[in-house]
Amino acid sequence: MQRAESTPADVAPLTLQSPWQTQLSRAVRDPRELCRRLGLDDTWLPGAEGGHALFEVRVPEAFLARMRPGDPHDPLLRQVLPLSAESESVPGYVTDPLQEAAHTPGPGLIHKYAGRVLLIASPACAVNCRYCFRRHFPYDDNSPSRAQWESSLDTLRSDSSIREAILSGGDPLAASDRQLAWLVERLEAIPHLKRLRLHTRLPVVIPDRIDDALLGWLGNTRLQKVMVLHINHANEIDQAVVEACARLKAAGVTLLNQSVLLRGINDSVASLAELSERLFEAGVLPYYLHVLDPVAGAAHFDVPDEEARELVAGLREVLPGFLMPRLVREIPGEASKTPL
Ligand SMILES: *Cc1c(COP(=O)(O)O)cnc(C)c1O
Ligand code: SF4
Repeated sequence: MQRAESTPADVAPLTLQSPWQTQLSRAVRDPRELCRRLGLDDTWLPGAEGGHALFEVRVPEAFLARMRPGDPHDPLLRQVLPLSAESESVPGYVTDPLQEAAHTPGPGLIHKYAGRVLLIASPACAVNCRYCFRRHFPYDDNSPSRAQWESSLDTLRSDSSIREAILSGGDPLAASDRQLAWLVERLEAIPHLKRLRLHTRLPVVIPDRIDDALLGWLGNTRLQKVMVLHINHANEIDQAVVEACARLKAAGVTLLNQSVLLRGINDSVASLAELSERLFEAGVLPYYLHVLDPVAGAAHFDVPDEEARELVAGLREVLPGFLMPRLVREIPGEASKTPL
């Protein structure tokens, strides 16, 4: 029986939202609040507010909790705190550096590489990373309805060279399990599809995302499952992330990681080596280390190619071969990522 004093407002969210959705909806979205929570002084505010106006701040609590209070150079904070440098225009840094607008055969699809099609399963992200090449992405044109998905899926159905569907975004795991289960059910009915890959940062920023509902649709598909996480610094991997990875592995998911080489965040041999070590402890293999895509507003994160190569050479001296990420760049028009 309903309590007499309850109102629709305090009942509805509890029944409709999973714990991870509640965490997502309560993410810090105010630059002033972000600075206050970390005890940063007011000198950081004008830059944070200027950048926020270009690409909104979004930081879930579980990720914020891994930052060191009072340290404006914390490597996790630096990934999400807008700086005044974002508002400067730098030659060569553009809004669509990968020219993805040219490779969309249907709503929500990007087909650039042989055998693999990328599906924009959700336009949203759980965290807004300042260096993101999608910070200017026209998501409004790429959030298909189910009817549009059906016609996009026809593209996959009719092309037997496609072996792998990659759920991407945004972050595909920002979509509901109902929506994802619906999509995966259609994908696994395509006989020539062998693999399902997800590119996601959600298990890192909100580890509770890896719940029973997710493990239900992901664990039961006939497709081989690969998840490419996105972790840039060892401090992102806390016990909750380790446990989320263990649940995924138990469900038969192969875990890989991609990072972006970022000035002031992971641009040292020691930092990259520790990241690889921590990843492997969590059961994750390093896959790619991307150099920054030249997206407007992110030039201050750039590490020049020469320095990137030296870092990777230094890394090779301290790590076993299987813990070495491949240093790559994405060049529009190329048939794969390009090794540096
Ligand atoms: C990066 C990317 C892929 C995956 O490339 P892999 O080298 O297989 O990891 C697929 N499609 C698009 C559009 C991509 O950008
Ligand atoms: S797409 Fe990835 S890198 Fe970009 S904001 Fe979302 S989580 Fe961060």
